[in-house]
Amino acid sequence: MSAKITAIRGMNDILPIPTKDNPVTTQRWQAVEKVLRQLMHQYGYKEIRLPIVENTPLFKRAIGEVTDIVEKEMYTFEDKGGDSVTLRPEGTAGCVRACLEHGLTYNQTQRLWYTGPMFRYERPQKGRYRQFHQFGVETFGMKSADIDAELILMTARLWRELGLSEVVRLELNTLGESASRQAYKDALVAYLSQHIDSLDEDSKRRLNTNPLRILDSKEAKTQAVLANAPQLFDYLDEDSLQHFASLRAVLDAAGVAYTVNPCLVRGLDYYNKTVFEWVTNALGAQGTVCAGGRYDGLVTQLGGQATPAVGFAVGLERLVLLLDTLQQQNDSSEADIYLVSEANTINQALLLAELLRNSLTNYRIVSHCGGGQFKNQLKRADKTGAQAALLLGEHEVAEQKVTVKWLQTGEQQQVNQADICTYLAQHLGA
Ligand code: ATP
Ligand code: MG
Repeated sequence: MSAKITAIRGMNDILPIPTKDNPVTTQRWQAVEKVLRQLMHQYGYKEIRLPIVENTPLFKRAIGEVTDIVEKEMYTFEDKGGDSVTLRPEGTAGCVRACLEHGLTYNQTQRLWYTGPMFRYERPQKGRYRQFHQFGVETFGMKSADIDAELILMTARLWRELGLSEVVRLELNTLGESASRQAYKDALVAYLSQHIDSLDEDSKRRLNTNPLRILDSKEAKTQAVLANAPQLFDYLDEDSLQHFASLRAVLDAAGVAYTVNPCLVRGLDYYNKTVFEWVTNALGAQGTVCAGGRYDGLVTQLGGQATPAVGFAVGLERLVLLLDTLQQQNDSSEADIYLVSEANTINQALLLAELLRNSLTNYRIVSHCGGGQFKNQLKRADKTGAQAALLLGEHEVAEQKVTVKWLQTGEQQQVNQADICTYLAQHLGA
């Protein structure tokens, strides 16, 4: 016997039934996707669909050579033509690439959204996978803090729609412009170099490559050193301070609570000014469900005209997991109407089902297929949770009728086939 082929570690099947490994069903995913689409509609954002594979230099240049993603996490390989290509680890780089390629940011503003799988070679654990899904929003051409505020208000509305406002909290920071950040970096490196022996190994390494990332180190001994480190806030330029103040004013007026976290620096290189994360305590270590910020320099970095930009991405696995831990899925039914027939009436049953679907467009109409006794088909109808079973035996076909059995009460009624759509429309619950 040949060995069984399984899915790649960290790449999950999403199924219509809950399993031990993946309790979250496709129904849950669809419910979340529906809310997200409606949210985008309400704010007037447009969808963009992007390739999953891009040329490797795009990510190296956009995300930064010394970030975790580029150093350790990318699925990069040579294609048959000898080009280095990469499965996208995030959506922003590809979105900017597409906007430049098609002139979408030329003399105009854009409000865009996308959703789909992303790939990172990480150690799989709860809330962290190798193929995962993001829902992302990117805006271009707007430099003032109004649009930063709009995005945060939008995410706050999303949590309200999903019933999650009580379990997520907003953390906010500003990174300033690159000149002020550079001055701060120098001061930070000078300070940390004096305490290098007290830093963890990762942080020692980052001192030369990406010193700002040391700020979000979880190591206690590094944290202790950081307690007296210089603060980015003291190095910020006037424009960035003003921008941050305007953003905070809108959030305060809208009643969106947040904490300013000076250690929030984000893992990607391209951010400036505003950065934010929505965090939960309900998922263990993988607590960030949404992360974003401003990246005014990225479009130029990828070869375009200077274009201010701000966006965010939601980690959908973490979001659906969070919903699943808080709310039981209450509707596990599979059908609203279930058609039961006999070997020599199944064809009429299939046609009747088609007819019903023409007018009862919002109901799930399922025909029993695969044969079996009437009695067993009725049991199956019960199992699906349908409201009604429609029985179409020889007798009914001969008389051009159908027997409707209401499965909650057991009540039965014969109805003329010509009247069945009207009858059901009047008697079915929502
Ligand atoms: P983390 O600190 O958790 O590694 P990150 O800073 O690498 O996150 P981003 O690149 O900002 O994450 O991606 C945005 C969001 O995508 C994250 O907040 C998270 O919800 C989700 N995400 C990132 N990596 C993964 C992953 N490997 N599996 C599942 N979700 C992920
Ligand atoms: Mg990461």
